Amino acid sequence: MQIQRLFTFILATLGAGAALAATSPQPIAPAQETAAKRAALNSVDRHAADLTAISDKVWAYAETALREKRSAAVLADYAEQQGFKVERGVAGMPTAFVATYGSGKPVIGVMGEYDALPGVSQKASPVQEPLEAGAAGHACGHNLFGAASLGAAIAIKEQIAAGKLKGTVKFFGTPAEEDVGGKVYMAREGFFDDVDAVLAWHPSDDTQADMTSSQAMVTMIVEFEGRTAHAAGDPWNGRSALDAAELFTHGINLMREHVKPTSRMHYVILGGGDVPNVVPAHAKVSLWLRDWKRDEVEALLARTRKVADGAATMTETTAKVTVDGGSWDMLVNETGARLLHQNLLLLGPIKYTNAEQAFAKQIQKNTGVPEVGMFEGVKPLEDQVAEGGSTDVADISWIAPTLHVSVATSPVDAPWHAWPVVAAGGMSIGHKGMVQAAKVLAATMADLYEQPRALAAVQAEFKAKKGATVYKAYVPDGPPPVPKD
Ligand SMILES: [Zn+2]
Repeated sequence: MQIQRLFTFILATLGAGAALAATSPQPIAPAQETAAKRAALNSVDRHAADLTAISDKVWAYAETALREKRSAAVLADYAEQQGFKVERGVAGMPTAFVATYGSGKPVIGVMGEYDALPGVSQKASPVQEPLEAGAAGHACGHNLFGAASLGAAIAIKEQIAAGKLKGTVKFFGTPAEEDVGGKVYMAREGFFDDVDAVLAWHPSDDTQADMTSSQAMVTMIVEFEGRTAHAAGDPWNGRSALDAAELFTHGINLMREHVKPTSRMHYVILGGGDVPNVVPAHAKVSLWLRDWKRDEVEALLARTRKVADGAATMTETTAKVTVDGGSWDMLVNETGARLLHQNLLLLGPIKYTNAEQAFAKQIQKNTGVPEVGMFEGVKPLEDQVAEGGSTDVADISWIAPTLHVSVATSPVDAPWHAWPVVAAGGMSIGHKGMVQAAKVLAATMADLYEQPRALAAVQAEFKAKKGATVYKAYVPDGPPPVPKD
């Protein structure tokens, strides 16, 4: 799906389909094919078997946020074998790394993800059947994401080594997109500061250069402290933190009517006492706020603080709001999207076998969506009205011009963050999308090295849109929350 559906979504979000075109620019011709670009595309083909094997390993490891030890290692090891200088364990995360090759300007980066989602284990089969019941699975296709982006970086590295391209290429191994937001911590430590442009892609149910933004989000823990008492013996001595939590969530739900239609607010209650005969002294709510504009999210955050204080006042408890993360809205680079689109046209659509289309249709049948098979083509360049979702890629888009493309790896309209994505991502449908993604990224990166005017235009748009805004990560001070186990 396009960006809106796909952008993954720090912790499992996902919108659904796309809506319609806002702009329809004049027809765009396919990109030029230079010798360096052709050589880079050949390089992807030469490495395709290795990249597929890496993708399949990461698929099978299915490691979740900040636990991607084997997944990060298989990618970093391959980068090292290919001649990159690899810096492992960056920004306080053992599974984050940066692989660098070349010297001087321009510095072009490409980002790869490799974290899985809990509880969506699935075989590479068109019928829902876990590989291991209750285990994690690559329901957002990040096994393909990391392998393809690394493939593109290697293709460029080989052209720099051969003297066909000049400059530096960096592969960013970015963990924990689905939770925590590894890129935000890497951004906070300045890892993207020297990059002239950075590329990323995402697995999807269609193929398109992305011009749609993503939602800014702020996540928080809201805690209430009251006073415990025997709920029957002396309840008048108690002040219930759970009452405060209930009033707080009620207040959020009433506020819902008085926010922009683009705003999203969702919460879960993490704690509200243990047994009914003890007045709860502690209650804890996890709340996320989103909107397409970061200013709107900031306004919602200010109102949320008032709602928490009001709930505390009413119940004679105290409230504490702790912002523990978030991401910015995506700063879309239309000039970059145009380059990606031109290269998608140059490559032409992914071709599927009858067996692959039958596999896709069986998944569609089993998930109750139209049995149309795989998307074969390139969608037009267009801005879209999206349904929601946030990504830590968006934070990077405020530090360096960020070019983003979606490539089909899963059947049209099959549910995302769900077993169909795992199934298709572990077989030839996903592999084909992964190779196509590596190619469109490599071809577009080749343009940025070979056409200084194109890179300058990408940067000029970035500077104009960013204006005076200063990026600041939402994550709190201190190290990332790396699990101990
Ligand atoms: Zn994702």
